[in-house]
Amino acid sequence: MANQNQQINPPNLEKWEPKTELGKKVKNGEITSLDYILENGFTILESEIVDSLLPNLSVDLLEVGQSKGKFGGGKGSIWRQTQKKTAEGNRITFSSFVVIGNRDGYVGVGYGSAKETVPAREKAIRNAKLNVIKIRRACGSWACNCKTPHSLPFKVHGKSGSVQMILMPAPRGTGLTVEKKCRRILALAGIQDAYSHTFGTTATKLNLFRACFAALQELTKVKVQPSFVGEAGVVEGSVSR
Ligand SMILES: [Zn+2]
Repeated sequence: MANQNQQINPPNLEKWEPKTELGKKVKNGEITSLDYILENGFTILESEIVDSLLPNLSVDLLEVGQSKGKFGGGKGSIWRQTQKKTAEGNRITFSSFVVIGNRDGYVGVGYGSAKETVPAREKAIRNAKLNVIKIRRACGSWACNCKTPHSLPFKVHGKSGSVQMILMPAPRGTGLTVEKKCRRILALAGIQDAYSHTFGTTATKLNLFRACFAALQELTKVKVQPSFVGEAGVVEGSVSR
């Protein structure tokens, strides 16, 4: 299957006219670090903030829909279509689910719906940027203990709806033994090796992806002992320009 990884045209930041205080500070160079924004818990309302401070972002559209009819074959579509009966007739809505990341510790996921596919995708990309997090990576595998950040520092747990996902450190070379599409979330986050367990109705892809992201969020939240940082080789996301 073709790789869904896409380089979406980067927005023209020269033309960007920030509407929020935070946006203005980023545009005029007062704020130059995404970490500063994330660590202070500022809410990002303009995706250009992330475009400005986090270059080299990749975008991946995950399949959330069902391909119907003769072209389908259970492959799954990146568009999810829903129909609603209204007074004017049937109204179709397209939704898409996007993961963005720099493959080096920063990752975000977003969902977007619209009457047409392109705006739905744009909304999803925007939402993914607004949701960006910085994760910790390490070698938390006792069987490996190489102290390089190819995996997770510790076991994490995420939940969405009925779906629960546990992600665990794995030795170097294991790869991502995770549901296929969640693999793409971990890859864009910069994780190379991980084990996982999934519980619940995993046919509900949206919940599966959200549970995966919720588990990654735990990597930022859990407090880490300074001694463990050296022991497992814990690193945080890094921005390369
Ligand atoms: Zn290792």
